[in-house]
Amino acid sequence: MSQLSTAQDPQNTIWWSNGIFFVSVHLAALVGVYYHPWYSVHRASLFLCFLLWQSACFGITIGYHRMYSHRAFRASLPVRVVLAFLGASAFQGSIKWWCLRHRLHHRFTDDPVHDPYCATRGLLWSHMGWIFFKPKYERMGLIDRDDLDNDPVVWIQHEYYVPFAIATGLLFPVALGMIWGDPLGSFIYASLVTRIMIWHCTFLINSLAHWDGIQPYSDENTSRTNLILALLTCGEGNHNFHAFPHDFRSGPDMSDWDPTKWIILALHKFGLVTGLRTARDADVMDAIVYMHSKGQHLPPPKYDVYSSDDQESIRSLYENWDEAKLHEYVQAKKGRCVIVVKGYIVDVTGYLGEHPGGAAILRKYSVKPQAKTEAGEPDETWKKATWAFEGGLNKHTRAAKRHMRELVVARLHSN
Ligand SMILES: [Zn+2]
Ligand SMILES: [Zn+2]
Repeated sequence: MSQLSTAQDPQNTIWWSNGIFFVSVHLAALVGVYYHPWYSVHRASLFLCFLLWQSACFGITIGYHRMYSHRAFRASLPVRVVLAFLGASAFQGSIKWWCLRHRLHHRFTDDPVHDPYCATRGLLWSHMGWIFFKPKYERMGLIDRDDLDNDPVVWIQHEYYVPFAIATGLLFPVALGMIWGDPLGSFIYASLVTRIMIWHCTFLINSLAHWDGIQPYSDENTSRTNLILALLTCGEGNHNFHAFPHDFRSGPDMSDWDPTKWIILALHKFGLVTGLRTARDADVMDAIVYMHSKGQHLPPPKYDVYSSDDQESIRSLYENWDEAKLHEYVQAKKGRCVIVVKGYIVDVTGYLGEHPGGAAILRKYSVKPQAKTEAGEPDETWKKATWAFEGGLNKHTRAAKRHMRELVVARLHSN
């Protein structure tokens, strides 16, 4: 099944320190549990194991994933600090390390080269194989990181990640165990076993949630929805919602098992988080209808500037502009951001704050009539927007294309 074996891939070098630590924790936990079975340790140590597993999981789902990777909401400083500590306790790298790779995963889902935990490279690779290697991701430079670089919580946590992780994930449980006279039991269960549980539960989202389950929203990539995984991961199992990553929920339905969403809503009620983002109901509905009609072998609803059978009637909806008119439109309002994709002039000004890939990338490929290159030539980066949109920089989903069509203002004259 693996399309690209690691041995063939020259950019992969083995990450010895990570691999040795990962295997050592498993072996130490195995020895610990063998000599100190669960029924022989203090009940409080076992309860602590469960509690810290869940709290580390929320650090990842609320903090690393939905807030930092996908900017699904904003949080006050105390909340960000707490989430940074909880996330560090999960031993999954710093916020910055984790988010950059996760943004790559969303941009290039299932791409064997550019998706760090690409599911099409096999179940074992996507689950944990990838963490044994230290590849140079050649498209990492394209990932928006300004928000991460500008948050002091992120850079302090990145700088001191190892001591923070050891203190919160390994030593803190031992200190608590001393209170009820069972530091060894707490170390085995609440330090070691808990780390293994939080690792593999998160990894299951990268592996099994791209492997087994239903696809109610999209079949454009391997992501799937699986209730058992939702139960194990504080709600992340509704993974087929991949097409709407900026939504603070992992699904639109209140009944979806998603404790992460419920906590975010509670924090919002107390004013500790703001700016909750959700996918538009129309987009979600359209995705559901599309998948349903596909399942019933009915023709899919037409809506896309790319749906080839309807190109002519879509074209006729828009005026034809030449470049002079395009420049005039861009310059008519300060800060206006316009891109040209497949001959369609798209005004993304009002969409900058919503774009899952960030505003910087839209600005980069926008039409800038006055801009010059270093050589003094007119800057024509905007002419590469179609390449970027079509997969050069991102595999845009059907939902994204649908949204884009609503922002089209005209067509660009082809000559
Ligand atoms: Zn995924
Ligand atoms: Zn995600």
